[in-house]
Amino acid sequence: MSVKQPELRRYLVDVDTVSTQQIFTDVLVIGAGIAGLFSALEAAKTSNVTLISKDKLEMSNTWYAQGGIASVLNRDDTIEKHVNDTIKTGCGLCNKKIVELVISKGPELIGELLALGTQFDLEDDGSVSTTLEAGHSKSRVAHAHGDSTGKWIAGALIDRLKEHPNINYIENFFAIDLITNSEQRCLGVIGNHEKFGREIIWAPSTILATGGAGILYRETTNPNIATGDGMAMAYRAGAVLRDMEFMQFHPTTLYIAGASRVLMTEALRGEGATLLDSNGYRFMFDYNSAGELAPRDIVSRSILEQMRKTDSTHVYLDVRHFEDGHFQKRFPFIGEICKSFDIDPQKDLIPVRPSAHYMIGGVKTDENAKTNLAGLWACGEVASTGLHGANRLASNSLLEGLVFGKIAADAAVKNSNAKAKSLVNRKIFYNVKRSSRSRLDTEDVRNSLRALMWRNVGITRAQESLSECSEIILFWQRYVMDKIFDSPDGWECQNMLAIALLMAEAAQQRLESRGVHHRDDYPNLDEACLPKHIEQLRPDCV
Ligand SMILES: Cc1cc2nc3c(=O)[nH]c(=O)nc-3n(C[C@H](O)[C@H](O)[C@H](O)COP(=O)(O)OP(=O)(O)OC[C@H]3O[C@@H](n4cnc5c(N)ncnc54)[C@H](O)[C@@H]3O)c2cc1C
Repeated sequence: MSVKQPELRRYLVDVDTVSTQQIFTDVLVIGAGIAGLFSALEAAKTSNVTLISKDKLEMSNTWYAQGGIASVLNRDDTIEKHVNDTIKTGCGLCNKKIVELVISKGPELIGELLALGTQFDLEDDGSVSTTLEAGHSKSRVAHAHGDSTGKWIAGALIDRLKEHPNINYIENFFAIDLITNSEQRCLGVIGNHEKFGREIIWAPSTILATGGAGILYRETTNPNIATGDGMAMAYRAGAVLRDMEFMQFHPTTLYIAGASRVLMTEALRGEGATLLDSNGYRFMFDYNSAGELAPRDIVSRSILEQMRKTDSTHVYLDVRHFEDGHFQKRFPFIGEICKSFDIDPQKDLIPVRPSAHYMIGGVKTDENAKTNLAGLWACGEVASTGLHGANRLASNSLLEGLVFGKIAADAAVKNSNAKAKSLVNRKIFYNVKRSSRSRLDTEDVRNSLRALMWRNVGITRAQESLSECSEIILFWQRYVMDKIFDSPDGWECQNMLAIALLMAEAAQQRLESRGVHHRDDYPNLDEACLPKHIEQLRPDCV
């Protein structure tokens, strides 16, 4: 089957800036995870800010983060050690300058989170309590209410956001496309409000903080919002995407057929949980000398291999040896989830398997969180900053969102000057060519795409299955990308198809195994593998 790539549209919907309702703001923030919330609060110190989220403010990957946020908080730890751990895990692709920047800002920003009201767990002496996670040489992961860190960080930031006089927040506002002028300057967004319909938000400075793309996979820890919208809209607007072959899979998510894949945090293994196969055999040391504390990609692949060897759909986490009461105290959220499935972790094994978890690739940014489009900054999971390289060190992503959220805000505020303001509110018109091709059911395409990505662009990949994946996506694209939708389901399906193809193509270009990208047909690291980073730009922008 050979399928021609459909014409790449600039916008998913018709644009008519004259007849559409309009909002004006100094700084527009798209997304309400840690990156969006923190950047909005920072920018609002001096500017008017509008923050939009496609769902409720509480619906984000950030909200579901469990284990914690990594930072140097103890005397026996140093910035250098955290930098080294990050670089070692990143398998040769980290940008050292960015790693140093992010890690060195950590302690100060954890202090800011505390000041904004995040209730981190504390030691008796009042210092922030930390734990160890895989890949970290020191205990440095701060957590809140045991295993509900994200909820308590986001909750505090949302409280501050709601009371801030300079912030206008709009929930259930779906950003469809970034608006750009003929010089590729970003001027804001065209979107759709659940109640008020189509609206344009004009802004001299836009911060993209739309998170990741885990929903592209059948098995994922991510909530439904993570459909890669921000990456897709940035790509359509002419932004460079980078490292899209690197999707990180989390080794341990609860496996109960029919139930959603709830994450079983890394911290469990950090605090002594072991992995057993269906015969009760502790197998991790057969694969890596660090056992259960090996980096995530190794643990994920080892679990997959052990499942294959034992012809089983899952393996088990064993915490039965934890001191009485410790599990309930440290992991109350997971405790509740287990209880709801009649699993008593003190007595029973917890069935687990890997799932898609974190998108390492994204919109390419520099040390100022700046993209290649004037007026557009990106931060958090949507961005590719160079911090994670080819594999993310556990609990470094919340930290990255925090650090680059602040950096993006400071730069966006500086840009919102009179000259930049004079560029917005231009007349922009775009008409989507109507197509008479057959319609596909987008719900069906979405589900089939997720199954395809899991099978063909999953924990291990190879040329044949990757090119087959591209062909199937291109086929679906012909019948979905030519349509005009009027609700988020359709736009999400178009975004998912766009991003899935870019991921499959990037995975075909990297002819080696590195970090989370494992090719069965190129199983080794190849230091001569060039280019070092795979960058993707829409062809008519080259
Ligand atoms: C279950 C789970 C556990 C995790 N545990 C940890 C952990 O312990 N430590 C750690 O460091 N990391 C952890 N991570 C990863 C971390 O949570 C994320 O990388 C991080 O929270 C991403 O933050 P963000 O601000 O970039 O995006 P998100 O928090 O995902 O927020 C994205 C926002 O963008 C909005 N949005 C998306 N598309 C649109 C659109 N089209 N229009 C308008 N709004 C849109 C969404 O509504 C949402 O508000 C975990 C992730 C998951 C899923």
